[in-house]
Amino acid sequence: MSNWENNVRKVVPYTPGEQPNVPGMIKLNTNENPYPPSPKVIQAIRDFDTDKLRLYPDPTAGVLVNALAERYQVKPEQVFVGVGSDDVLAMCFLTFFNSGKPILFPDITYSFYDVWADVFRIPYEDQPLDANLCIRKEDYYKENGGVIFPNPNAPTGVLMELSDIEDIIKHNPDVICIVDEAYIDFGGVSALPLIDKYDNLLVVQTFSKSRSMAGSRIGYVFGNERLIKYLNDVKYSFNSYTMDQLTLVTGAASLADEDYFKETLDRIITTRERVKKELSELGFTMPDSKSNFLFISHPRVPAKELFLALREKNIYVRYFDKPRIDNMLRVTIGTDEEMDQFIAFLKEYLC
Ligand code: PMP
Repeated sequence: MSNWENNVRKVVPYTPGEQPNVPGMIKLNTNENPYPPSPKVIQAIRDFDTDKLRLYPDPTAGVLVNALAERYQVKPEQVFVGVGSDDVLAMCFLTFFNSGKPILFPDITYSFYDVWADVFRIPYEDQPLDANLCIRKEDYYKENGGVIFPNPNAPTGVLMELSDIEDIIKHNPDVICIVDEAYIDFGGVSALPLIDKYDNLLVVQTFSKSRSMAGSRIGYVFGNERLIKYLNDVKYSFNSYTMDQLTLVTGAASLADEDYFKETLDRIITTRERVKKELSELGFTMPDSKSNFLFISHPRVPAKELFLALREKNIYVRYFDKPRIDNMLRVTIGTDEEMDQFIAFLKEYLC
């Protein structure tokens, strides 16, 4: 018998949300945007010169990096892009969390963080959210190997004040602090302006939620030029051509349509606020979400029961079978019509 299995890098993988393909389903389980990408993106796809596919894409992803730099008023040298923010975050873990000391993140948070820590053999200590599901900034003041948290946090939707984030960064001058802003456009204030003030700060964002482009897989991170250089060194030691030809131009096209971006965000935020009220009237409780999802719980009906009952009707939401959150459901904000159907089902089920 050979012993090769002793040498395998074994990990418990991240479980992505289901991607069912059921006609007429209402899909509120993976925080996608219910609206299509900007018409400019669709036009860019139509205009795409397919002869370009013969050639490798620009390894620096220049078109996209420059468009991001212009939109967010930073230097191109302060931008790094990747295949979704998952790719960008994984690169950040690999590049910056090497001290051997435990990195810190909340106990209830994006469930990929502990998976990357495990796969890269990075020790970590999770820090409990308080009873209101808020991050306690003081938990991040101790010695550590790096800090990461989403703002707003996921799956709670709770937003942290920028001044509290700045306090965490200030207390950690010798390690890298990553603010994962996957949901920041739905009502938060970005930490981006702080990258010029703190050389240990990285701010990660994505096209998957607010730009309706989860299928294109575009993520990016802002940080000072030295941090971005280190990220590029690791990327070029791994896979130089991460962004494909079509994605580069469609990403840039999306950034050129600020009006559409704002319009769809406003629609989602308006729907979210209405749905918050309607769910509260039905007895649901939830932390105040500033994201494109709500994290809800009902005093009478267990979350798992509701999850399965919704699923029977082809309404998909996300249930996490984990301590502290196993009686909550994460519900993505869909179109008004989708949310009406969701609420109508709940009204009937709960009466
Ligand atoms: N961060 C958080 C907090 C998320 O919820 C997600 C979405 N699953 C991501 C990062 C990754 O998003 P993407 O890779 O689509 O950019």
